Amino acid sequence: MQLFDEGLHSGVNLALKVDKILYRDQTDLQDLMIFENKNFGRVMSLDGSVQTTEKDEFIYHEMFVHVPMLAHGNARRALIVGGGDGGAARQLMKYRDIAVTMVDIDRTVVELSRKYMPSVSGGAFDDPRLDLVIADGCKFVKETDETWDVIIIDSTDPHGPGEVLYTQEFYSDCKSCLTPGGVIITQNGVPFVQEEELRTSYQRLGRLFQDVSFYLAAIPSYVGGIMAYGWATDDASLRKVSLSTLAARYVEAGISTDYYTPEVHKAAFALPLNIQKALTRDE
Ligand code: SAM
Repeated sequence: MQLFDEGLHSGVNLALKVDKILYRDQTDLQDLMIFENKNFGRVMSLDGSVQTTEKDEFIYHEMFVHVPMLAHGNARRALIVGGGDGGAARQLMKYRDIAVTMVDIDRTVVELSRKYMPSVSGGAFDDPRLDLVIADGCKFVKETDETWDVIIIDSTDPHGPGEVLYTQEFYSDCKSCLTPGGVIITQNGVPFVQEEELRTSYQRLGRLFQDVSFYLAAIPSYVGGIMAYGWATDDASLRKVSLSTLAARYVEAGISTDYYTPEVHKAAFALPLNIQKALTRDE
């Protein structure tokens, strides 16, 4: 029996039975593996870390996209940095009036996601509203003169090519291409095993934005417990949008979801005490 051994966190491992390897090779930048597991369906890993699985990606991508989109209420332009599997793009395409720019550093991730995991992107890569750019997201935001209402940093963890997507410089450049009242969301890991990353993002984003916090969702294939999405905006009212307004926007947008509800949206921002304390704990 072959096992995939998630090694993202030293001393903590998640073993997934590999029923069939569909692809395994080094891209120009990352070790990419796509395999079948009877519980999670097709699984993609990069550099030995689970990125997305067919069976639980809906949780991760719905919470990544619909929380900022429905809190903002009037976003017409969204930027995805990373997101090569196309899951965030698929969720954004549910909005009628949206233009999406997606910047991923690894063309092979996009191509193989389309080929082996088409349900994740759900046709988003063929949608004329999507502008796909293959580039380093850090360089892209530094050089662009465009702006976006919602910026989704759907990155790998801060190792390898993803490391630059957690820097003060990158966050500052993202702010420069955010429209007034816009919001930035980050993939900020699993606090129980990535507490320092959470705190560092909190500090770095806190130097740039009026309102910085996190919201939570449990992604079954991510080892260590609930994961955190970073939230950063200068419009503090976005996090306080009422349940009734979110519900009305959800209906008006005409979107369908399998995890996200306006109630889950509001509850996701309720941080447990251990995570609240982690944000300001002396290192
Ligand atoms: N759900 C995953 C997680 O929580 O770690 C993230 C999924 S997505 C596949 C991560 C993407 O980030 C990959 O497609 C990878 O190529 C991309 N990426 C890594 N570093 C990047 C960079 N510097 N610029 C743009 N994309 C980057």
